[in-house]
Amino acid sequence: MIILKLGGSALTVKDADKPTIDEVNLDRIAEEISDYNDDMVIVHGAGSYGHIYAKKYAIGEKITGKDENQFKIEGLSLTQASVQLLNYLVVNKLQEKGIPAIGFKPSSFIMTENKRIAVCDTTIVQRYVDEGFVPVLYGDAVLDLNDELKFAVISGDQLITYFARQLNADRVILSSDVDGIYTDNPKTNPDAKLIDIVTKDTKLLLTENENQADVTGGMAGKIRELLELAEYGIESLIINAEKEGNLRLAVSGEKVTGTLIK
Ligand code: ADP
Repeated sequence: MIILKLGGSALTVKDADKPTIDEVNLDRIAEEISDYNDDMVIVHGAGSYGHIYAKKYAIGEKITGKDENQFKIEGLSLTQASVQLLNYLVVNKLQEKGIPAIGFKPSSFIMTENKRIAVCDTTIVQRYVDEGFVPVLYGDAVLDLNDELKFAVISGDQLITYFARQLNADRVILSSDVDGIYTDNPKTNPDAKLIDIVTKDTKLLLTENENQADVTGGMAGKIRELLELAEYGIESLIINAEKEGNLRLAVSGEKVTGTLIK
């Protein structure tokens, strides 16, 4: 079984000031996946459909008073609706390409404790896979069991790690808008070099440092999740979904440029 992550940065226009889909990318991505007809679970990121609200309402930051609690309740409601809309667009496009996609709303069956998944029953997702469907989950805003937080954001990357373990995935593929993990952010440093293989021994600095590979933002969180997954014996591959043909090659198990995390 494959667990496939579609990065929010490839599906949406991430720095837009309102939720914006990248229609051309979505269409091509869905087309490339449609050749694959074995067991598959898809997880997509939230991109601009999530970040705008999660940031405005500071979902996942400590609540300091009653007013703030009310503000966050409003924020959680809006964030969930926004990412659910993106999920609908993705599911709809996958169906258009002949994939029997089933949208799953993570916040309706998952709760976190201190931002890590604590309550989640994967039985139904597994059953849909067994019956030949392709479940499609996504980064969402959920209830958190810590009363000081009450709400948290779960990234698509955290879902990937959790579901890969629970469902015993054979392969985990993550697609983003860069070729993989670089020695520095390739968007800002043209001299950054792609790293073929990352293990727990690779000298990566997940904050800032002049001497070591520098990884920030979304990519840093991704690596933490994926190294944890590697410890359980599940390798994962990060590839670029914006380069035509990459996803098609990756899902069919052929060689493709990217970073292997093992
Ligand atoms: P996605 O939405 O596709 O899951 P993110 O936006 O969360 O991806 O993370 C990918 C982004 O991480 C890239 O677009 C890149 O700008 C940034 N990034 C920062 N440091 C690195 C690095 N060392 N290697 C690759 N990408 C990096």
